[in-house]
Amino acid sequence: MFNISIIKRTIIHIRASIRMIILLCIASFIIIGILAFFYKTAYIVTYNGEFIGYSANKSKLQEKINSYIENGNSDNDNIAYVQIDSMPKYELTFLKRNIQTNDNEIYNAVISTGITYYNYFAMQLNGEDKYFVSKYSEAEDILNKLKEKDSNNINNIQIVERYNTELATFTNVDECVNSLYEKKEEQKPKYSGTSNKSTYVASLGISFVEPAQGIITSRFGIRKRDNHKGIDIANSIGTPIRAAASGTVTYAKYNSGGYGNLVIISHGNGVQTYYGHNSKLYVSEGQTVSQGQVIAGMGSTGISTGSHCHWEIRINGVAQNPQNYLYKGR
Ligand SMILES: [Zn+2]
Repeated sequence: MFNISIIKRTIIHIRASIRMIILLCIASFIIIGILAFFYKTAYIVTYNGEFIGYSANKSKLQEKINSYIENGNSDNDNIAYVQIDSMPKYELTFLKRNIQTNDNEIYNAVISTGITYYNYFAMQLNGEDKYFVSKYSEAEDILNKLKEKDSNNINNIQIVERYNTELATFTNVDECVNSLYEKKEEQKPKYSGTSNKSTYVASLGISFVEPAQGIITSRFGIRKRDNHKGIDIANSIGTPIRAAASGTVTYAKYNSGGYGNLVIISHGNGVQTYYGHNSKLYVSEGQTVSQGQVIAGMGSTGISTGSHCHWEIRINGVAQNPQNYLYKGR
């Protein structure tokens, strides 16, 4: 009896419990249904500690931000990367259905703090930026072309990679090569060359007349092996040699250095003329002579292979090309 009563009461109790559980389940479903009707899941997004919006799709938004950091938001080839303040933080929440998520606005807020870094290359001369080019291949091209042209400054030019928030103004390869190219230095006599001639003659106020009639048989060639410091005018022995300009005779005797019987006339301002290999001398040292005055007779004294006048112009002791002053175009 006792047992039966307990079993009965237990069964009744279990039935009540099951009923209760079912009721609770139904109630839960209803509540969840009501919640789902009014709420949705979303992410609270904070950036630099500030709330900036609700995201409906956290992974898609973050992917977009990552892509922006890597590539920037323009097609510029020189963009290296974009730096942003920090990564946004996400927190799951239930949001009332009438509150909008705003992934695009969040994205725009994040990228508005981005600093774009550009990558390009500087061509440096003596450690100073001279030109900028977009790609390394261009910089290499410039260096190779300067090497080919044997540019004098090739060892002072280098390529430096740059990361900068500002994009530099680029110069094209050929322009860089032309501007950076430096000719190998040559030893030039100070006043020779046609470019200096006219100003120099003008400042001296000297014009020369031909020291002798004849044929030019050897020309000025200070850079050549023979180092010919004057011009040779050939004619027969005894042909009159004339002072190319007025001045003072500072030398009139036999010269053992190869000039033979030599006359040197000083014209002032460091300008001298030399007349070598003479057969006869008609002037003496200290004498003043006028332009065109006969000073010697042509000959072949000293180191000479035939009768000629070896004529030199020297400025401050440096031999000049006489054909820059006289016998032009001959
Ligand atoms: Zn000569």
